[in-house]
Amino acid sequence: MSEFSKREIIEILKDDSQNNRLFSLADKVRSEYCGNEVHLRGLIEFSNICKCRCKYCGLRCENKNLERYRILPEEIISIAKNAVDMGYKTIVLQSGEDDFYTKEIMCEIIKEIKKLDTAVTLSIGERSFEDYKAFRESGADRYLIRIETTDENLYKKLHPNMDFNNRLRCLKDLKELGYEVGTGCLVGLPEQTNESLADDILFFKEIDADMIGIGPFITHPDTPLKDSPNGSFIKALKVMAITRILMKNINIPATTAMETLHSNGRIIALQSGANVVMPNVTSQTYRAKYEIYPNKICVNDKPEHCRKCIEGKIASIGREVSKDYGFRYK
Ligand code: SAH
Repeated sequence: MSEFSKREIIEILKDDSQNNRLFSLADKVRSEYCGNEVHLRGLIEFSNICKCRCKYCGLRCENKNLERYRILPEEIISIAKNAVDMGYKTIVLQSGEDDFYTKEIMCEIIKEIKKLDTAVTLSIGERSFEDYKAFRESGADRYLIRIETTDENLYKKLHPNMDFNNRLRCLKDLKELGYEVGTGCLVGLPEQTNESLADDILFFKEIDADMIGIGPFITHPDTPLKDSPNGSFIKALKVMAITRILMKNINIPATTAMETLHSNGRIIALQSGANVVMPNVTSQTYRAKYEIYPNKICVNDKPEHCRKCIEGKIASIGREVSKDYGFRYK
């Protein structure tokens, strides 16, 4: 049961009677190929300013109910330093699509953070090949850019003024430049079918992504999708588990969106195929404002608290926090 056809994936997604078997198999594959260690990545949400209009996302430029912020390079670097001091071996820089951070500014930030003995992951959206190349040459190790959905029609409806083929171009450029590449999808988008989720999973495998982030869609009241229901936690968990079984040695985070829908969501995910957690290390001043969806967890917590909290939970299920950079297992 390690090479599923599209038909089989659809069957698994449809039928909930074998879920526990699916989750334990994914957990077994994780244990065999990735071991007992959990990699923690310190996430800095450095700007919530965004030029895009993704219909599900609270950061979309048409949302006027959100107070916007931009953290300046010096403060980003000091947040990163604090995170490295806490033990993080990867810093993830995430933001809306904010043109304030030019190629030059990003390269400066990356170079400074790379001096701290940490891996650097970027998650700042679609940029040119030249930008990606410059970031890589400045030391960036990894890049996250979810395809969100591989259903081109749905993609078009959800992403006005964006182009599915450009998203594919980004993934291709990043691979070619030698990044570890992460992608993923939202689960439970309006009109999304099991067939389209099966296509998403097979797409991850086809491009041989190094990291896959899967999260349930969470309704944001200040977006055009305000009347669509939340995605299902269990469905998202199943998409994640199938991905683990198919892709074996990749890095898979237990996503924050899962914990938002289920109070123990990240631990359940860690026991169903995930081997990574991305705790927030952004200062409290900004956390609540990075509202891609509502009821985000830990918005009132300090970075030190989040680190201790997740370390305790990881220990409680008999797993260990890795002291390594956490690149994809060979
Ligand atoms: N601007 C960057 C980072 C986007 S935010 C980029 O384009 O890649 C990171 C992820 O949050 C997105 O890829 C999306 O999958 C997820 N997200 C956005 N809105 C969401 C919502 N309402 N519910 C759940 N996840 C959401």
